[in-house]
Amino acid sequence: MSKVRLKDLTFDELTEYFLSIGLKKYRARQVYEWLYKGVESFEEMTNLSKELRCQLDEMCHISTLKVLDKQVSVDGTVKYLFELEDGETVESVLMEYKHGHPICISTQVGCNMGCKFCASTVGGKVRDLTAGEIADQVIFASKDSGFTITNIVLMGIGEPLDNYENVTKFIRNINHYAGMNIGARHISLSTCGQAEKIERLAEEGLPVTLSVSLHAPNDALRTSLMPINKKYNLKRLFEACDYYVEKTNRRITYEYALIGGVNDSEEIAGQLLALTKKRLSHINIIPVNSVESTGFKKGNAESINKFRTVLEQGGVTTTVRRELGNDIDAACGQLRRRHAREGK
Ligand code: SAH
Repeated sequence: MSKVRLKDLTFDELTEYFLSIGLKKYRARQVYEWLYKGVESFEEMTNLSKELRCQLDEMCHISTLKVLDKQVSVDGTVKYLFELEDGETVESVLMEYKHGHPICISTQVGCNMGCKFCASTVGGKVRDLTAGEIADQVIFASKDSGFTITNIVLMGIGEPLDNYENVTKFIRNINHYAGMNIGARHISLSTCGQAEKIERLAEEGLPVTLSVSLHAPNDALRTSLMPINKKYNLKRLFEACDYYVEKTNRRITYEYALIGGVNDSEEIAGQLLALTKKRLSHINIIPVNSVESTGFKKGNAESINKFRTVLEQGGVTTTVRRELGNDIDAACGQLRRRHAREGK
């Protein structure tokens, strides 16, 4: 019989499981707390009897990650390449801000979305991560760095809404008072535009900050960059976004990877303004990270500024993402690709 993977269970599921094997309810709370403190064995759960620790060890499994590579930038950004128990790898990026420590984590091994500028999608999706494997990135980075992680950003490798069940389970666990107790408002989820799942998330009662990777304000251009636009065009996507705002009252961030000569003209900025100014929105410009094989390049500082000015003068709050970790492979998917190429 295979062992029960405890971090893949929610608090309620763990409680139910413990009751079903004849344990008292409070034991579930004790074990759950240990899991999110980052213990790697039942032996470390010192408030349980020796006998109970042995019983749990026979029946249950605590997942762990191995750090394969760790790059530390001069600006404090730390990029981890983690190895999962089956040998697959994912990346996480721990950042250092004045007001806390956000971590950007992966939700899938690879990705099937096919965005033309993105390194994570080269080679497609290998598999979904389980809820526990998503949580492990936070648990291990926190333990390794000694930092209290303040914000979670679901913006690493993978499309979170293409792994809906595991991702929402993860959010419930990380949000739970006996888990890491990180508020939904401190959790951001980024999607390429899975309209139906955005609507489902709006109903979930988990008011996370939603980021939508827009990258183009008209269908022809967006379809040429992001295949998902064939399935959910801009009209359909914005219908879902409007529903999310209506249900959660949360402002949506629209991510815009600015690619020199492709989506950065003033005319296009005007189209983007028209789409966003009548909505509760914020635009985050990401000067595109060049990825080998895509051929896309950032525009110069002047074109970035012009683009931003059109939006701001039109009344839409716009930020340009700080380029953290420039001296390391901090852009999504780059470390994993390099590792695969070098056949380490
Ligand atoms: N699948 C999700 C989350 C992962 S990607 C999504 O699409 O939102 C995280 C963000 O980085 C997305 O906005 C994505 O479009 C963007 N991104 C991917 N490759 C990039 C690159 N080379 N330069 C700049 N942004 C990139």
